[in-house]
Amino acid sequence: MLAMGDVTAEELYRAFREQAMALEQGGADAACIETMSDIDEAVCAIKAVKENTDLEIICTFTFEKTVQGDFKSMMGVSPVNAAQAIIAAGADIIGTNCGNGIARMIDIIGEMRKVDNNIPMLVHANAGMPKNINGRDVFPESPGDMAKQVKELVRAGANIIGGCCGTTPDHIRAIKSAIK
Ligand SMILES: [Zn+2]
Repeated sequence: MLAMGDVTAEELYRAFREQAMALEQGGADAACIETMSDIDEAVCAIKAVKENTDLEIICTFTFEKTVQGDFKSMMGVSPVNAAQAIIAAGADIIGTNCGNGIARMIDIIGEMRKVDNNIPMLVHANAGMPKNINGRDVFPESPGDMAKQVKELVRAGANIIGGCCGTTPDHIRAIKSAIK
């Protein structure tokens, strides 16, 4: 982590650049920079892609609900501050991924939408908060649970909806038919 001094900004930039250039050569259309929590790291990744490739850039942050009831990343970044910083850095598509279920994504996208009305927004929600049952992580949200939040998520401003941890092809199918 950059903030902990594990790497320098220069080392991080070089690592992101190497991956982005290799992915573009391999035929990727876009770079999806996801599960971000720190603005400096996200901006470093966006710059490394933008300055060295023609890839479309997707950048999404992961937020938790705080005891105050608002949303912050692990590094204390709000959805508004994340959106401002990654749009300024040149992301083409922004949004949120992972986290603790699709219902919270409605509020997070609503917050991010305050910053920009036009930029496409992506949501890849987890299938809820995992519970450890007999040593296995089990995700509680069924395809139907996720699909029933889709209408409100689109209303909040999401343009691209998929799934993160715990989602299966059945979840994606249910989300797709809810959108249609
Ligand atoms: Zn996830």
